[in-house]
Amino acid sequence: MSRSAHPAGPRYADVIPEGHYSAPPADLNALDRRVWARTVGRDADGVATVGGLDVQRLAEEFGTPAYFLDEEDFRARCRAWREAFGDGADVFYAGKAFLSRAVVRWLHEEGLNLDVCSGGELATALAAGMPAERIALHGNNKSTEEIERAVREGVGRIVLDSFQEIVRVAHIAEKLGKRQRVQIRVTVGVEAHTHEFIATAHEDQKFGLPLAAGQAAEAVSRALRLEHLELVGIHSHIGSQIFDTSGFEVAAHRVVGLLKQVRDEHGVELPEIDLGGGLGIAYTADDDPREPHEIAKALSEIVTRECEGAGLAVPRISVEPGRAIVGPTAFTLYEVGTVKPLQGLRTYVSVDGGMSDNIRTALYDAEYSVALVSRTSDAEPMLSRVVGKHCESGDIVVRDAFLPADLAPGDLIAVPATGAYCRSMASNYNHALRPPVVAVKDGEARVIVRRETEEDLFRLDVG
Ligand SMILES: *Cc1c(COP(=O)(O)O)cnc(C)c1O
Repeated sequence: MSRSAHPAGPRYADVIPEGHYSAPPADLNALDRRVWARTVGRDADGVATVGGLDVQRLAEEFGTPAYFLDEEDFRARCRAWREAFGDGADVFYAGKAFLSRAVVRWLHEEGLNLDVCSGGELATALAAGMPAERIALHGNNKSTEEIERAVREGVGRIVLDSFQEIVRVAHIAEKLGKRQRVQIRVTVGVEAHTHEFIATAHEDQKFGLPLAAGQAAEAVSRALRLEHLELVGIHSHIGSQIFDTSGFEVAAHRVVGLLKQVRDEHGVELPEIDLGGGLGIAYTADDDPREPHEIAKALSEIVTRECEGAGLAVPRISVEPGRAIVGPTAFTLYEVGTVKPLQGLRTYVSVDGGMSDNIRTALYDAEYSVALVSRTSDAEPMLSRVVGKHCESGDIVVRDAFLPADLAPGDLIAVPATGAYCRSMASNYNHALRPPVVAVKDGEARVIVRRETEEDLFRLDVG
């Protein structure tokens, strides 16, 4: 065991970790395949690499903090989802997880469709050449301008989320001389997060129209009566970071129940069913997500079985993974600043970013892992908390982590699985300059979203 640089710091055996870990991992230098992007490894000197480039050089060239995105992994995940579902189903990437023009082009090339939920996301999709018919527009409060643009451009579907919107989209389509394909978003009373799901969740939320109270069926009736709307299906999205398909099973059962009711009352069989996104990824080595082909098989079996039971033709299925595609493909690289051992507690490791580049820990109590990547170390594990540099004690990036006890200012550490909902939720809190996103592939690194500069701050602050 090597000498600790912080002899006063707590060792894991001295404290009772209050969080995720009961013991440190066997090998602090290992980069667990489940949480790191596909091409991440270590070179002969122990420096971590991605796409063939070492993080020390990447940090010198692009600075820290920065997100490094493994393009090969991203494309492989797109292909895995598409191949798993085949030609009889549609995969929509949920753009809110992370969207840039480069990402839109990759999605286009890999044959995926794209969900957007704002005018800005729609503009990004169109600017990068995604064909409008492969775009779906979501949102519980779409503006008139957003709807007009979507209808004018000819988006493949608008997912209707309220009675007012049914009328609003119909009016806009009529005004523009179009017939708009739409789905209706319903809430099925199922809520799924991680390992648990609740089949009797209340429908007390802003999205969708409740099935149980009959509002979903009423929405279908109204949409079917409007000639400028082409109602093609029902949409349900039940949660996030879901690891098994039992929640989808209950949701599909209830949605198919509605399809049957629609057939019985209106003589119409709606041809599409969208089961939403929310598929889980590994943030720590304890998470064990299903592969796309397992999910595809389970979902199509569930829908087929339900439809056979209801005497309905099997509709075309679509799914909307966001996190499951982009989440695992990126890590955030930070430089260690201060290292502060608190006697009997833990060591606070401060990095040059924080809640401005990853709000998920503060917002959702999300769990992450972290590794020393600029070198390996044989030092003993040190119970740590990785925190940012913001003026907020809740500014935590990784709540419970073991890092080597010889960790020192200037070391580079990386937090894996930050591809989803980190850059897209990044803020300028404390006038932080939002980090760049650098795509790495085959020994080449390319900035796809550049780092903000002080000039960017002053461009908006007009004095
Ligand atoms: C957020 C969202 C998704 C994507 O969720 P992930 O957890 O990123 O897979 C898909 N569909 C809808 C309607 C959403 O709101």
